[in-house]
Amino acid sequence: MPRRTAATLATSGEVLRLIRTGEAVTRADLGRVTGLSRPAVQLRVGELLERGLVVERTDAPSTGGRPPVRLEFNAGGGVVLVAALGASRTRVAVCDLAGSELAGRDFAIDVEQGPDVVLPLLMDTWDELLGDRPRSMIRGVGMGVPATVEFAQGRTESARVMASWTGVLIPPIIRERFPVPVLVDNDVNVLAIGEHRGAYPDLDDLMFVKVSTRIGAGIIAGGEILRGALGAAGEIGHIPVLDGAGVLCRCGNTDCVDSVASGTALLRDLREAGKDVKTIADVTALVRAGDAETMAMVRTAGRRIGEVLAGAVNILNPSVVVLGGDVAEAFGPLVSSIREVVYRRSTALATRRLRIEPSRLGSGAGIGGCAVMVLDHVLSPEAVDESMTLSAVRR
Ligand SMILES: [Zn+2]
Repeated sequence: MPRRTAATLATSGEVLRLIRTGEAVTRADLGRVTGLSRPAVQLRVGELLERGLVVERTDAPSTGGRPPVRLEFNAGGGVVLVAALGASRTRVAVCDLAGSELAGRDFAIDVEQGPDVVLPLLMDTWDELLGDRPRSMIRGVGMGVPATVEFAQGRTESARVMASWTGVLIPPIIRERFPVPVLVDNDVNVLAIGEHRGAYPDLDDLMFVKVSTRIGAGIIAGGEILRGALGAAGEIGHIPVLDGAGVLCRCGNTDCVDSVASGTALLRDLREAGKDVKTIADVTALVRAGDAETMAMVRTAGRRIGEVLAGAVNILNPSVVVLGGDVAEAFGPLVSSIREVVYRRSTALATRRLRIEPSRLGSGAGIGGCAVMVLDHVLSPEAVDESMTLSAVRR
């Protein structure tokens, strides 16, 4: 986005951005930074005060004289509704405009029941969590779902886990009850956004890899999430490995890393080897018990994931690769195999400063990422200006 200069007239939305980032915190600052006249600054600040997006604070005088009134972004001036849907765990929350959770709840929803069951349940939960707060405070909705999402439309594409969700246009369904902007992205992208802002805000290039039932990645490049043309960037799960045994993947190709190294693949291979494993927790128990065959399979899975990641690292040159998801969280040997292969197979320059780290926020990154995604949108200068125009028309 081009930086505005004094030559272009700063809008109210731009004035809010300057106050939020701390670049200008008094009316005099705003005049200096934007080049706006005093009445013009007054008008824009007045609009932001009226909408509850900004509050005035007066500091105690230090050297005598009248202290300047400071302008602060008002995190309490609204709320966003967020939900991080997962195949195994889902969290629903209400956050303030700074992204802090005001109320939240964990769920064991079977997402396979489909949107007709799950979406009303989510909306009922938001209603309960909102409590007495006026519904006019709701500024937007942000959701992560375990499916590829055509981001601009909020339409699910191939659902990685849940077939009943394929091709669902989610925003209009939510907007019937909550008529605000609704942003939907895939679960791995929201984890990447959450981990980036929450744990690595100073790094511009991060790759978040989720190893769970499925394998996927969310890419932060140049400080922004990389979605690609339609939203399919980061689908590393369907990149084939070199030494696979011809395993047919559900996408129709063979030896995709997802079909040979995901949690689902590990469980399948261990069962074929005669192990009694039903869940990832059962596999964890075998690893803890030092079962040699299980350890070897987990390491092989790690090497295969590493092989695919090495290619991605060569293309993207991230500063940090974050490994998350329940499989990555549970298995030390998997993570060390991934590390070993990535460092060996990526180019020297791409790995010179590369860190490969376990997720710091865990599943908490999901809710944080949903909040950041929707707040970045609804608090952007363009969206703020548009909402002011709309409320002016309604008046
Ligand atoms: Zn595949």
